[in-house]
Amino acid sequence: MHDATLIDALTEERVDRVRWIARQHYEVTDAWFTLPGEDQQWRRTRVGALSTDIPDALSLAHRTLRHDALFVIEDARCHPEFTRHPLVVGSPGLRFYAGVPVRDHEGVGIGALCLVHTSPVSAAALNFDMLHVLASQIEDEIGHHLLTRRPPGLTLDDIDTLTGLPNRRFLQTLMKAELTLARQHRGHLSVCLLNLDGFKSINELHGSDIGDAVLRTVAARLRDAVRRKDLVIHLGGDEFVIVMRDVLQAEACQRILDQIRSPIETSGHVHALTASMGITGYPGDEADVDVLLHHAYQAMYSAKEAGKNGYCRFDLELHHARRARIAIVGDVHQALSQQRLELFYQPKIDYRDDTVAGFEGLLRWRLPSGEILPPGRFLPHVENTWLDVELSKYVIDKGLTALEHCMQRGLPYAVSVNVNPSCFLDSGFIDHLHQTLARHDQELVGKLTLEILESTSPQQDMDTIVANIRGCLRLGLQLSLDDFGTGQSSLSYLRTFPTQKIKIDRSFVIGMLDNPEDEAIVAAIIGLSKSFKRLVIAEGVENGAIESRLRALGCDLGQGFHYSPALPFEDAIEWAGEYCLHHRAF
Ligand code: C2E
Ligand code: CA
Ligand code: CA
Repeated sequence: MHDATLIDALTEERVDRVRWIARQHYEVTDAWFTLPGEDQQWRRTRVGALSTDIPDALSLAHRTLRHDALFVIEDARCHPEFTRHPLVVGSPGLRFYAGVPVRDHEGVGIGALCLVHTSPVSAAALNFDMLHVLASQIEDEIGHHLLTRRPPGLTLDDIDTLTGLPNRRFLQTLMKAELTLARQHRGHLSVCLLNLDGFKSINELHGSDIGDAVLRTVAARLRDAVRRKDLVIHLGGDEFVIVMRDVLQAEACQRILDQIRSPIETSGHVHALTASMGITGYPGDEADVDVLLHHAYQAMYSAKEAGKNGYCRFDLELHHARRARIAIVGDVHQALSQQRLELFYQPKIDYRDDTVAGFEGLLRWRLPSGEILPPGRFLPHVENTWLDVELSKYVIDKGLTALEHCMQRGLPYAVSVNVNPSCFLDSGFIDHLHQTLARHDQELVGKLTLEILESTSPQQDMDTIVANIRGCLRLGLQLSLDDFGTGQSSLSYLRTFPTQKIKIDRSFVIGMLDNPEDEAIVAAIIGLSKSFKRLVIAEGVENGAIESRLRALGCDLGQGFHYSPALPFEDAIEWAGEYCLHHRAF
């Protein structure tokens, strides 16, 4: 509940006038504006000496607030709950009571405006509309005072001498108090940071006297553009802050911008100014003065970037997403340098001769806790960052190492790794690829396949990507079009990229037996790859029935949980050995 100092700060005359009107209008003994305190009832009245120690349980204001509507006692002496009430048996000898709740801007009840009379009154004879209207006047008054009330100790140092507005120092004090209140009462607080566009040139062209005059005009206009209960602060220079206790609506933003836009005249000069505003607020944003201001600044810069002369709201979700992204890129980088990123190998089965053709190397992140994260948990955050290229270099190196191990053991397996096509725009990546492949013999390089996804790069970039990929193909490695059929331009990719292989995305394969359309797509891709003389591999082979169907359709290779998930290298090699044994046995 609000404390008594809040009421001390209220303009006495205004509340007293409301009470006076109520008393006159309803012809009652008195009208009170009362607040239930934490352990005492505080009553504002100049009429009669009233006790101030009525506990909440007995407080009529408290009772009215709990009732949450007009609360009437026609005759307290006949009312079982109130016959022994201190106000009934003692001073002022209350018989009739009618109170309505007074709420703050958030709708939280803070007190009651009530009529009291020393003889019984029949409620049916009264129309309480006027009482409600008067209560809302007090509500306005409270809303106003909560913002314009000066914290104790406000000195001239808190006022900006140029504009007469409160200054940055005051803003700190005010916002601290406002945030505390907003937290306690689940209220709102909007903070709008306003920066003039192009003010610097006015100062430079016309001198600082003219500049000061412009700032004074802007200050006055801002005061006019907001409500009496909102607060305008001059931060310094060409920056202002508006603080209000509710959500700053779009119309209000426009009104403020309009005010700045209309030409400003100073001793013979007419200046055209605009402003950029950044808005944030509690509770959407955090409850910390400096953080809120910082975020308002960020939003203001976004408004500048968006072309000035406008406003932008701080997007906390986006902010957190960005922060998380930056953090995770750092974490992945660290994992990479600590060798915590590994490739797991998923076997591919060649349907033409029932052998293990090789493996797809799929990234896994081994956390210090031992948990193993699949790429879906971290790759999306890394996409389109500098780390993307580093990861691609890394998996290529790992893939080549795996191939070396296979060759050393006389195992014929091939290995594929996934590479983001945008890497082919990075000259560092291409150099690395050339140098790395040059270190290995042709036979080994020929067993490495890069699986590339459809790129989201713009057309002009695509030409570079295609040219660079062609260059790499000349080095002897193989290329596979990954996730074929899921992108926008799979067909044009097929035409443009000189790839040896096509990989049918698992989304078509998994459901192909239940969904005739998926099967038709799978059949069409297989047909297409035959016409283009490419090898076709299906991923997502989850059971024997899918395998049989794929074989019947003429698919060359298959990969999926029906055979094995991706495994650590040694396990994968072991798995392949057993598969060989098993299939030779039949
Ligand atoms: P992808 O290239 O399509 O890889 C195949 C994904 O399908 C793998 O998921 C694999 O575990 C999963 N999979 C295999 N068989 C089945 C099956 O029968 N049923 C089902 N439902 N799923 C199956 P994973 O390892 O989580 O990889 C997800 C994606 O992450 C990959 O999709 C690939 O796009 C990306 N990725 C993985 N490793 C790398 C990498 O080294 N570099 C890049 N750039 N991307 C990678
Ligand atoms: Ca793949
Ligand atoms: Ca896929």
